[in-house]
Amino acid sequence: MTTIISRATWGAHAWNGTPASVPLSKRTEFFVHYDGGTHITRTGYAIMRAIEAQHVNQGWSGVGYNFVVDQAGNIYEGRGWGLQGAHCPNHNVSGIGVQIAIGGDQEPSAKALAATRALYEEACRKTEKTLAKKGHKDGFATACPGGLLYAWVKAGMPAGDYQSTPAPGGSTPGAGVAVSRARVTVNGLDYGYGAKGDHVTKVGEALKQKGFGKHFTSGPGPVWTDVDTLNYRDFQKSLGYSGAAADGVPGETSLKKLLGTLPAKVTAKPKPPFPGRDKFGPGKNNSSITLLGQQLVRKGYGKHYTSGPGPKWSETDRKNVESFQQAQGWTGSKADGYPGPATWSALFA
Ligand SMILES: [Zn+2]
Repeated sequence: MTTIISRATWGAHAWNGTPASVPLSKRTEFFVHYDGGTHITRTGYAIMRAIEAQHVNQGWSGVGYNFVVDQAGNIYEGRGWGLQGAHCPNHNVSGIGVQIAIGGDQEPSAKALAATRALYEEACRKTEKTLAKKGHKDGFATACPGGLLYAWVKAGMPAGDYQSTPAPGGSTPGAGVAVSRARVTVNGLDYGYGAKGDHVTKVGEALKQKGFGKHFTSGPGPVWTDVDTLNYRDFQKSLGYSGAAADGVPGETSLKKLLGTLPAKVTAKPKPPFPGRDKFGPGKNNSSITLLGQQLVRKGYGKHYTSGPGPKWSETDRKNVESFQQAQGWTGSKADGYPGPATWSALFA
């Protein structure tokens, strides 16, 4: 059973109007949302009051989500089970909309994910069907629910230590199976449950390519979930590993066999500060011009150099800078071939 904090408890205002009722039999989908582009620092009931204020301001009856889940794993009632939501056009009757109260690249807590998964299971029990797991963007052109939550939804909403009973007729990837949650660092990069990054996507793609992608329902993606662990375990078994060595958590040897070479952590070089406009132009001779030229070459804008780049300003420097500026879509004085702070910033981005 999931405990839901009622509207009365969190201090909702009376509905502004009368939201329509929706019978459980009409529900077929479960939508996950986030709050938007910025991190949420509010906690507790204040989360709900802020959403309510915003949604009423938009002319809605009150909180538009059916439920909201905070990072502590609390579930708050919005429209609840029986009222039509206002969270995704054309899906407010068929879809139960749940916001996980995070924003931007904020990481959802294990508790929030487990609570949301529990809510999903309860929704399946109540409706007596396996509801489709969706992110807002599956129903509407939006960035919601953000990369992390969307990857989680697409991985089948695996939920920490939460053990679910498989819904009738539905598969619940990762649930009910003993899957290692260990995380390891190899060559500066993390692998295993919760690891994030392009290198995680690459492992998933390599597994899939070698025929070890059967646990993926979609993806692979940049967040390591139980599904990745299960696929990796199949790969380890194919290498002859058994027992604890085939736990689905990568090691250096198996990674090398999968990928050929080990991916290495790329440490971003700090951006050099803009040295000032007076460093560039005819007659100038300094190390900033060399730095500029080298970066132009690195970025593929060195075609006018026949030698160099070097510290002495030349017309080829100006032409290369001009090409780079034009490639940014700039015109006129913004593409005069002399670097200003904007050019510098874009060049070293
Ligand atoms: Zn949304």
